[in-house]
Amino acid sequence: MSKAAEPTIHQGSCLCGAIKFKVTGQLGAGEMCHCQQCRQWTGHIYASTEVPRMALSIDDESRLKWYPSSKKVRRGFCADCGSPMFFDPIDQEKHQWIAIALGSFTTPTAVKIEQHIFTLEKGDYYEITDGAKQNET
Ligand SMILES: [Zn+2]
Repeated sequence: MSKAAEPTIHQGSCLCGAIKFKVTGQLGAGEMCHCQQCRQWTGHIYASTEVPRMALSIDDESRLKWYPSSKKVRRGFCADCGSPMFFDPIDQEKHQWIAIALGSFTTPTAVKIEQHIFTLEKGDYYEITDGAKQNET
């Protein structure tokens, strides 16, 4: 284990590199969402980690576009390359976290997938076989 003084910095970007971000400190547990919205948004599954919103800094937000997928949540993606990246609760007072797509990270995450959610809505073309906890909703 390293000494506690320096917080870990995790880095990531969209496919084209227009949006780069940093997360200071440990990433939250990994989660895979199989709901229909996440399936259609990502093309498969939204694998993400939740971090405190304060821990995330985005270098340049000019190409970041937000799609309000419901009244409660907006989804952030790159307007140039289309990479799905952020899942952001709109009520930021109540929810002080943001989810980041694990696939966006370009540095090691040290994250393990701990649970699957909305498995009732999963696609019919794959099975979940990693042994992580499964929640139907
Ligand atoms: Zn991009």
